Amino acid sequence: MFSSVKSVALSGINGIITSVEADIRNGLPSFNMVGFLSTQVRESGERVRAAILNSGFCLEPKRILVNMSPADIKKDGTSFDLAVAVSVLAASLALDQDYLMETAFAGELSLNGEVKSVNGVLPMVCAAKEAGLKRFILPNPNYREAKLVDGIEIIGASSLLEVLELVQKKAERGMFLEEAEYIEQDKKLPDFSEVHGQDGIKRALEIAVSGMHNILMIGQAGSGKSMLASRIPSVMPPMSREESLEVTKIYSISGLLDEGRGLIETRPFRAPHNSISLPALAGGGSKIRAGEISLAHNGVLFLDELPEFNRQTIEILRQPLEEKKITIGRVNGTATYPADFLLAAAMNPCKCGFYPDRKLCHCNDIQIKNYLSRVSRPLIDRFDIVTEVKRISFESIFNKQEKEVESSKDIRKRVCNARDIQEERFKNEKIHFNSQMDSKMTDEFCKIDSKTKTLLEEAYKNINLSLRGYYRVLKVARTIADTREKREVTELEVAEAIHYREMIERFWG
Ligand SMILES: [Zn+2]
Repeated sequence: MFSSVKSVALSGINGIITSVEADIRNGLPSFNMVGFLSTQVRESGERVRAAILNSGFCLEPKRILVNMSPADIKKDGTSFDLAVAVSVLAASLALDQDYLMETAFAGELSLNGEVKSVNGVLPMVCAAKEAGLKRFILPNPNYREAKLVDGIEIIGASSLLEVLELVQKKAERGMFLEEAEYIEQDKKLPDFSEVHGQDGIKRALEIAVSGMHNILMIGQAGSGKSMLASRIPSVMPPMSREESLEVTKIYSISGLLDEGRGLIETRPFRAPHNSISLPALAGGGSKIRAGEISLAHNGVLFLDELPEFNRQTIEILRQPLEEKKITIGRVNGTATYPADFLLAAAMNPCKCGFYPDRKLCHCNDIQIKNYLSRVSRPLIDRFDIVTEVKRISFESIFNKQEKEVESSKDIRKRVCNARDIQEERFKNEKIHFNSQMDSKMTDEFCKIDSKTKTLLEEAYKNINLSLRGYYRVLKVARTIADTREKREVTELEVAEAIHYREMIERFWG
């Protein structure tokens, strides 16, 4: 006797429809599973058997073989349990075959037949819908997440028995869970209006977000670098539905979606500690889980105390910063995860953290240089904007009450405006932001007059501006002009952009 039911395997954040076939024939009683399975999936056989028996069904003492296809996709995790159980039962019971053909199953089974929640439901349901399946039966706790996808019936189940009654037409179909209101999830983001003073750094952050320029803040301990960085998402444009869906999928496969939570609508802000391991940053390892760089997708990755990160770990950033995605080699095959984020980093200027305050810092020049050079030149070159964060002055604390502080909403308006200008500029190109321009485009879109050229020439001599640095300066100047709605890049914008480049040439040149 033979049966086949559908489930979904995951590759990166994509779901792949998988057939779970069961074949039962006479022979020595056994339960074997094949089809490019991880150890975890192969070992689920015993659990599934127990769940079937404890749900009140009996298994004939026969040879049971379960095969999963396609064979070239590695099946991992516990989400196949339910499909395996249904397939085995369908091979011995008379179930509604038409109903089975149109249905996908996912869920972990406990020994007593309870259906337990699994990770990655959102990409699974998306794949099932695209494949034209009519419904998806999955664990109750994953119901709301699955309901984010329109155009496919979602049925939440709490036990294997319940699922079987449904398939056997014993239960009334299509009733189950009420569609509940999604929990209001948009936590209030920290706002720039809460930060007094620091106008210069706020401005630099606005430029960074406007043109998607990676930014490095160098400053003393206690100058508020983390506090400033955590407010970056609040000035980014709201995510489109597509962006939200993508982010939610990444959190779904990583098991980081709170139960009952709907679509993630706020841009992620991830700030991993400097002791982070390579798999935790990049993704992969023994479990299916996206790394921090993918969890920061469509948002901000913030690396505080940049020189304290393991150098090899941090070098992994170079690929995703170019390609906006990361491909991870797993034991069998590879997986690709999106990783398009704004990189913000912060560091102390020296080991003690007080340079250039010579009253407090006694590091010598060589010590300072050694400390800074823990961040490699190739990595430092990924930052278009490097800016110094000074401790907030006494005056600005004192003036706290008197001066109106700009809110994130006000800043976001200008950011959106600058983004629109870039969207228009690059409508015939494959890029979206000034930071993505190659040298040819930079020459085309950042034409400068002779006065500005003189300024750049001086910078070339005075701060040893490199050729790469020259183009970075122009790209940042383009963004500054966009935030001011200026068509031309003038001396003013270039001077400001040079200022954001100075520290790199001074310390790493
Ligand atoms: Zn020092």
